[in-house]
Amino acid sequence: MLDSNHLFDITIIGGGPVGIFAAYYAGMRKADVQIIESLPELGGQVATLYPEKQIFDVAGFTGITGAQLTANLIEQLNLFKPTIQLSTAVKNIQPQADGTFILETTNGKTHTRGVIVAIGNGAFTPRKLAVDYNPNWDNHYVHYFAKQMDQFKDQVVAVAGGGDSAIEWALMLEKVAKQVYLVHRRDQFRGLESSVDALKTSSIKIKTPFLIDALTETEQQLTLNLKKMKSTDQETLTVDKLLVNYGFISDTKILRDWNLTLDHHQVSVNQQMATNIPNIYAIGDIVTYPGKVKLIASGFGEAPIAVTELLTSLFPEKRQPLHSTSIM
Ligand SMILES: Cc1cc2nc3c(=O)[nH]c(=O)nc-3n(C[C@H](O)[C@H](O)[C@H](O)COP(=O)(O)OP(=O)(O)OC[C@H]3O[C@@H](n4cnc5c(N)ncnc54)[C@H](O)[C@@H]3O)c2cc1C
Repeated sequence: MLDSNHLFDITIIGGGPVGIFAAYYAGMRKADVQIIESLPELGGQVATLYPEKQIFDVAGFTGITGAQLTANLIEQLNLFKPTIQLSTAVKNIQPQADGTFILETTNGKTHTRGVIVAIGNGAFTPRKLAVDYNPNWDNHYVHYFAKQMDQFKDQVVAVAGGGDSAIEWALMLEKVAKQVYLVHRRDQFRGLESSVDALKTSSIKIKTPFLIDALTETEQQLTLNLKKMKSTDQETLTVDKLLVNYGFISDTKILRDWNLTLDHHQVSVNQQMATNIPNIYAIGDIVTYPGKVKLIASGFGEAPIAVTELLTSLFPEKRQPLHSTSIM
């Protein structure tokens, strides 16, 4: 249970990369900060959706996996030992008469002077395969996250989907699996040009335009029934594992109860990352402003702006130092 008697300076809602960096930066500014994260681990999309993918557009790294970037962020964060509440989702933000906020969570209430909303795409769940199958096959034959590549080692794997992450997963699997198939219901893929080019020169066998319309178990393997689109043709494909990437359903509905000004389900912020409610700021994938780019790097840039502006608003008498010549 959260301690509702403690008044935090800043509560960061969402422990994705951007929320973690904001908490670290708030720690540098000697703020009393907590992160509230609905998942059982920190790291957001980077840790949950693509831990083994290489990320090439974070400053200072020629390439780093999602898992390593998350580990680095957590190591940096822990220099300040902020309060971290995991497996706790914020349900509501209640402004108080004295300008502070009570946050209602799935784990009790907490009290804070200021809030930074960093909830990314909201609480996310994978879009499931629209086929009836034995639920016990989930995490055995049927997977929705490419978390540990080891479980696909020397296996025959089918990846279902045609977007960027499906292609990225297929390319990552190619390095460890015995054989990778990519099943997509269209002939065209929606991935980055460079990923689609890599796909064309890879050993991945492409099955298009096919829809998976039934699954059966055959001698400890999974047989996919593939229906050719706009045709009566059918074929089967037997694999050890099926990795489905039909995208993720993100739930930002909760935002409607927080009285923040929204634009297409995103929180509208100004150049200071301020929302319409004083002392509530928002950063990362959840925000929108002219020119917003949904990247880790842009979220990292937004975090110090929000923290500095929020601290200036909360403690106007304090000078806000700009450079990190000392972290303690
Ligand atoms: C497949 C894929 C590949 C990508 N590749 C790259 C790349 O190479 N480079 C790049 O820069 N970007 C990439 N991105 C985008 C990048 O992951 C996002 O820009 C980044 O994760 C945004 O960080 P965030 O902290 O704003 O949000 P998120 O990472 O979404 O984290 C938000 C966190 O908030 C939590 N949360 C949500 N609602 C609540 C609530 N009510 N209470 C408490 N916690 C809550 C969530 O559980 C989540 O952990 C990729 C994205 C995907 C899907």
